[in-house]
Amino acid sequence: MLKGKTAVVTGSTSGIGLGIAEALAAEGADIVINSFTDRAEDHAIAERLAAEHGVTARYVAADMSRQEDCRRLIETAAEIGPVQVLVNNAGVQHVARVEDFPAEKWYAIIAINLSSAFFTIAAAVPAMRQAGWGRIVNIASAHGLTASPYKSAYVSAKHGVLGLTKTVALELAEAGVTCNAICPAYVKTPLVEGQIADQMKAHAMDRETVIREVMLERQPTKEFVKVSDVAAMTLFLCSDAAAQITGVPISIDGGWTAM
Ligand code: NAD
Repeated sequence: MLKGKTAVVTGSTSGIGLGIAEALAAEGADIVINSFTDRAEDHAIAERLAAEHGVTARYVAADMSRQEDCRRLIETAAEIGPVQVLVNNAGVQHVARVEDFPAEKWYAIIAINLSSAFFTIAAAVPAMRQAGWGRIVNIASAHGLTASPYKSAYVSAKHGVLGLTKTVALELAEAGVTCNAICPAYVKTPLVEGQIADQMKAHAMDRETVIREVMLERQPTKEFVKVSDVAAMTLFLCSDAAAQITGVPISIDGGWTAM
């Protein structure tokens, strides 16, 4: 489906981003994966994707908290081919009461979760316009539509991502380029596995009780979203069938936002 197209997924050395990168490569896209770490194992992921799927794959180290790195990521990816699929996935979290929230954490979360999407989109859009085809998928969160206490920066950033998504969709509506957001609830990633362990300690509860009563309290299905669910939705948004879907948040949240 995506043969000959170049795709960039930010923050894609683990979790949801890696799952999306795998799915795009499996559909034939040449793929650029990214994080800020630049370790041998990061480059090894790109080598594996290239070998497994017969595509061009490259790891580009770029810090999504830095404006110039966001632009450089897109420019470096364009050495493979003009970027036609852009998935803004990089994200970080910090939890604290609003009056205690450290300013540097606020700025980092806004930069990585929101501003990076603005800068990568701005850098990628000219080539998408020229090609007359493009797909932008922003990985927001159920916290783009609802709030939880102690997550002021994350909730603000994810709500901002939805505003950016709608605006970009309108600007590109006649250019053959769609821009949408996916809003997952809790997804079973290494990040969330760590949170389960922390909550078991904090609440002195066993794993099953923590999962059901703490982590999935607001997920009516009482099941985690799977990385593959988010990857499959991303592929659908990249398909021709999704050409008329633009500017929307798509919830994958087991009923969270129905409540
Ligand atoms: P993760 O921690 O497994 O992966 C995050 C990725 O972002 C990693 O590859 C990391 O290296 C990268 N990253 C972090 N800071 C970066 C920076 N400054 N520059 C470049 N890369 C950076 O997290 P995840 O759970 O897969 O989350 C991915 C996205 O999905 C995030 O935007 C997150 O907010 C969103 N999300 C996650 C969940 C969940 O339950 N896991 C739910 C809803 C939304």
